[in-house]
Amino acid sequence: MKGPNYMTLDRKPSVIQPSDNQLSLADFEAVKVIGKGNGGIVRLVQHKWTGQFFALKVIQMNIDESMRKHIAQELRINQSSQCPHVVVCYQSFFDNGAISIILEYMDGGSLADFLKKVKTIPERYLAAICKQVLQGLWYLHHEKHIIHRDLKPSNLLVNHRGDVKITDFGVSAVLASTSGLANTFVGTYNYMSPERISGGAYGYKSDIWSLGLVLLECATGHFPYTPPQGDEGWVNVYELMETIVDQPAPCAPPDQFSPQFCSFISVCVQKDQKDRLSANELMSHPFITMYNDQDIDLGSYFTSAGPPLATLSEL
Ligand code: ATP
Ligand code: MG
Repeated sequence: MKGPNYMTLDRKPSVIQPSDNQLSLADFEAVKVIGKGNGGIVRLVQHKWTGQFFALKVIQMNIDESMRKHIAQELRINQSSQCPHVVVCYQSFFDNGAISIILEYMDGGSLADFLKKVKTIPERYLAAICKQVLQGLWYLHHEKHIIHRDLKPSNLLVNHRGDVKITDFGVSAVLASTSGLANTFVGTYNYMSPERISGGAYGYKSDIWSLGLVLLECATGHFPYTPPQGDEGWVNVYELMETIVDQPAPCAPPDQFSPQFCSFISVCVQKDQKDRLSANELMSHPFITMYNDQDIDLGSYFTSAGPPLATLSEL
């Protein structure tokens, strides 16, 4: 049973680093299911030899060998993240027709989970959350040259320390670019930019559109586009897509929010991507800088809304 991998871990039992790419699925014990997405299931797992917690995401897919190799290679790129605002991907495996990804565990769950509890997020906390997301986005765009493509509340994870980190970057791109899987893995169109929906050329600014919609939803408590039939909801996904492409961009109601917040949303959700600011430019926007001298304690804020999923000390 005991292979050379375990020997390495035995000698260095304290913390597993992303560079320790010697992990095996058999080294982990399942603790509990912590989330379910479109394509798979996420479990809290514990590394048997170090006691360290991780999130194990398993995406079921029955694909042939060459496709698996392509996906594995692409996912490996995500393993070298060096940014505190991007969720670390430790390793990925293929096992029984599924991709399993060992991720950094975020004990506060996603911003979508959090928003369900608090309904709306006050501006000063949103600014602090947004600043971290912008740092993560800037890293992905500028350092890694990755367009996230699926930025949404469930792909922003939080923890009791007040960290906000971006996850699932590149995964959707890898899956969507794998021929035959494109339709299976497109999750939601809600946060997709007009240029992507209409099949045009798109780039990093596509993520900035999504960020604007996410912030607006967090501030108001509801998704910014409302169906024309009121309560009956969207008739179909094409109706929503048409609205995003044809209608004016949504905006923050100026009677409820600060001019700085309204301006920030406006520079994110410009219909023409050339008019949107970059992650770097947005970091010096007044909405982000106006709270600089205030000590915003996101850690207490995240934990005050209810018990975290599971903190390391509780287990
Ligand atoms: P979709 O599949 O449509 O993209 P999703 O993003 O919600 O939706 P998953 O990425 O599978 O789907 O995540 C499901 C849930 O699992 C998240 O909403 C979050 O609550 C939880 N989760 C995912 N990754 C982690 C992690 N690293 N640490 C803690 N919780 C996580
Ligand atoms: Mg996700």
